Amino acid sequence: MLAEVPLLVRLEREVEQEFRPLLRARLVERIAAEAASLKGTAPRCDMCGKVMECRGRKPFSFTCRFGEIKHAASAYRCPPCRQQKCPLIDKLGVEVGRLSGSLARLVALLGIVVPYELAARLVLLFFGVELSPMTVWRTVQRLGQVVEERNEALARHHAGAHSDASTPEQAPDAVLLGVDGCALGMQVREHRRTRKSSEEKLPPLPVVEEGHFREVKTGVLLLPSERVELSPGRRSVLRRALVTCLGNADAIFDRLWAKLHELQWLGPKTVVIIVGDGAEWIWNRAEMFPLRCEILDFWHAVEHAWEFGRLHFGDTSPTTTGWVTRLAEDLRAGKVEDVIARLRTLQPATDEVKDKLDGLIRYYTNNAARMRYDEYLRRGYGIGSGAIESAHKQVVHARLRQAGMRWSEAGARRLLALRVLLLNQQWSLLDRLAMTRAA
Ligand SMILES: [Zn+2]
Repeated sequence: MLAEVPLLVRLEREVEQEFRPLLRARLVERIAAEAASLKGTAPRCDMCGKVMECRGRKPFSFTCRFGEIKHAASAYRCPPCRQQKCPLIDKLGVEVGRLSGSLARLVALLGIVVPYELAARLVLLFFGVELSPMTVWRTVQRLGQVVEERNEALARHHAGAHSDASTPEQAPDAVLLGVDGCALGMQVREHRRTRKSSEEKLPPLPVVEEGHFREVKTGVLLLPSERVELSPGRRSVLRRALVTCLGNADAIFDRLWAKLHELQWLGPKTVVIIVGDGAEWIWNRAEMFPLRCEILDFWHAVEHAWEFGRLHFGDTSPTTTGWVTRLAEDLRAGKVEDVIARLRTLQPATDEVKDKLDGLIRYYTNNAARMRYDEYLRRGYGIGSGAIESAHKQVVHARLRQAGMRWSEAGARRLLALRVLLLNQQWSLLDRLAMTRAA
């Protein structure tokens, strides 16, 4: 049985409905006031500098949170130079026939959090404005493009500064840097499919073929000194800066480098702590930081021991658990050499187990210098890559890796750029970035 809609729910909605037209009328009033302030001042031509001639009033419209707004603005022309100007439209920064800047940014916000179809439904529920999923998509593309261009420009700007002496005074003693990545399903087609007529049905999308994946990477920067313990074992950081890119290892490190400089987190005495899972490409790039501390993620180190332990002692044997627990305690205490020495005394029963043991010994030996966990804990650096992995999941998985999703290269870049802006708590920056014309 359904209960009646509570009174307050109805009242609140009624008041909103009642005031919507008033909000729209008020906005029209404010626009009219702006138009009045421009009256009688004809603009000058950008080409020849002469006063332009008025060509009458030109109607324009746009959609805002309160619905569609229609207005008119004086249009000017310089016939010899074929220049046109509409001072009111320029002053407002309105895009004729499109969404208002304020609504566009809210629409984009929904579009980067949920799939475009759902976002369009939410726009209707939240703002009472009916939009197509395509409009949500286009809005995300256009705003994302602006942010992506800014990120590229910042990375280029700081790229020349690798050996530069632009060293901030207040740089922190230590910065933690980590990178995580995953594969993203890409669209097979080069171009977006378009229907020739509204009746024509598009054929179903082909299944993602092998090789149609791109690596997407997330880089995380945080200050170990800002780690706080919310409750025993539950840690959080006050600030965290994310970067992301669809591309190779160099690209993500360029962006991390740019972000470090933008934040002024890299001084002459700053130790860059790099946490990795053992993948060589991270350690290779880490060399760009002369003062660094490389840490092999503790949980990866222990996971390798589990793999061998299960094989050697048996999958469900309590011996395995006891053996790995002790090994993990010793590693945490910084006794990696003792652990390696003990591993060498083991007598594997088969060649397969022996291979696994050799692999484990090699892994620990190669990474021994990155396994001084007692020291890292003492310095407050931390020993795991949990913060990095969870950041990557927040940036990528939560929106871009849902069932059946495939992305165009540009589409994924733009969406990622906006998600990182939001997660970096810089969303308001978007107000000050001009939208590009084309999607
Ligand atoms: Zn002119």
